[in-house]
Amino acid sequence: MKYINNRLTIENVNFQKIANKFGTPIYCYSYFKLRENINKFRKNFKSFSPLICFAVKSNTNINLIREIKKFGLGADVVSMGELMLALKAKISPSKIVFSGVGKTSHELSFAIKKRILLINAESLSEIKEINRIAKLKKKKVRIGIRLNPNTDAKTIKQISTGKKGNKFGVNKNTFIKIVDYCKKSNNINLRCLSVHIGSQILDYKPYKKMLNAVSDILKKVDHEFEFIDLGGGMGITYSDKNKNLDYKKYNKAILNFLNKHQVKIIFEPGRSIIGNTGILISKIIYIKDSGKKKFIILDAAMNDLMRPALYGAIHKTLPVTKSSKVSKKIYEFVGPICESTDKFITLKGFQELNEKDLIAICDVGAYGMSLSSNYNLRPKPVELLIKGSKIKVIKKRQKYKEFI
Ligand SMILES: *Cc1c(COP(=O)(O)O)cnc(C)c1O
Repeated sequence: MKYINNRLTIENVNFQKIANKFGTPIYCYSYFKLRENINKFRKNFKSFSPLICFAVKSNTNINLIREIKKFGLGADVVSMGELMLALKAKISPSKIVFSGVGKTSHELSFAIKKRILLINAESLSEIKEINRIAKLKKKKVRIGIRLNPNTDAKTIKQISTGKKGNKFGVNKNTFIKIVDYCKKSNNINLRCLSVHIGSQILDYKPYKKMLNAVSDILKKVDHEFEFIDLGGGMGITYSDKNKNLDYKKYNKAILNFLNKHQVKIIFEPGRSIIGNTGILISKIIYIKDSGKKKFIILDAAMNDLMRPALYGAIHKTLPVTKSSKVSKKIYEFVGPICESTDKFITLKGFQELNEKDLIAICDVGAYGMSLSSNYNLRPKPVELLIKGSKIKVIKKRQKYKEFI
């Protein structure tokens, strides 16, 4: 994405043109950025060729999943819906892992029927349920157990998942008990230990601690694991102040780990694959001067992009047409929804804006559209995939008749 003649462009098309044609708000994704992200991710860990399972919850557009599949990735799913979507995108069941703390019997049965690579279980009760269903079906089911390694991911509190107080995974003692249970079962094939300590992680040290915790427990239990699933969570740079995750150091820590344990590594990245490929384009409906600040009232709202309202996430916000006039007032970018949390960002020293101008909200490819809703009965935006000069509609704008 860059400015050409003061107009913001994605690959070879400018956003003004896209907006004229498709209306606003719009989610746009860059095909080449997606390809670059996947290639980079692979390269970072090429010394041990991990299985990379894209975390479908970060973006559930089937056309994007199809592209991701073409690059050879598998899928990490957290519900029957996501599992069905991954299968529909033709991802091989042998590359699908199923995570989540509350898989229902129905979901487990379906996953067992589809013979996916792994069901990553998160409690003894879940494993007993898998065992019951597998016995009924006279099958042996490959599973993983998710360990809660009690490591602080040093990320936003709401997206931290690997600490003692979090609902995810099981603690060391339970883990050991579960391994014993699995060994006694004829219907469970325990193949994997999984961890996932959180999202938007920018410091490699929590990962190193996590690996140490995994290493400790592997020494304690007498069982050979084929896979260690290290989850996802790799952070991206939402603001220029962010520092990047040091992949070299993370890779080195994993290589160290692999020296001690002969296992295959699985990753479940979502954000780091798709996050910075997406941009939300929105039009200013009104500008309201409230004295100290101006409210920039956009036609996109928290139902389209929930992250700022949900956990105070910051998204870089840019004008689609650049000018040199700087506004003296503070701008607060808000949506039309009847909630005070329906705001995106407050900025000082932004350029002078006018009603009907277009705004680009950056890095919304992950947990953008997938967290969107019809709140206030607003239709969901159109999604476009840009490849060079080509624009492909990968999801049509929702019509009112679809929900009224
Ligand atoms: C959400 C989630 C992921 C993906 O996390 P990112 O931060 O998007 O990489 C991976 N694994 C599990 C189990 C998850 O819940």
